[in-house]
Amino acid sequence: MPDDAAPSNTAIDWAELRARAHEASRTAYAPYSNFHVGAAGLVDDGRIVTGCNVENASYGLTLCAECALVCDLHRGGGGRLVAVTVTDADGELLAPCGRCRQLLLEAGGPDCAVNENTTVAELLPGAFEFPLPQD
Ligand SMILES: [Zn+2]
Repeated sequence: MPDDAAPSNTAIDWAELRARAHEASRTAYAPYSNFHVGAAGLVDDGRIVTGCNVENASYGLTLCAECALVCDLHRGGGGRLVAVTVTDADGELLAPCGRCRQLLLEAGGPDCAVNENTTVAELLPGAFEFPLPQD
């Protein structure tokens, strides 16, 4: 699907994405914080990719759910994220952290919708510039 054919925000099934993110939060490995996070993203080919957070005893090596989501994107064949949502274990929306905003920028571009009401560009003003890979 070319960039200009990406679904509009109204075509994105946010309820489904939120449900999938919530479901993913149940698989989180978070024995230190007990803060379970799930993320779900719509890919430009229609796939839904998901991720959960994975903590580590060193704390600094903890992987956010969005990191796992981007890994799932590439593991499943790549593509461009169109929309992403992130929730906690109660299904409440969470904002991506700074590192993940940069990850989402490269995986979805500045127009990637986040949590229904914003975009990656709005969450990451002055982002590190890069050439997006061509399909
Ligand atoms: Zn993060």
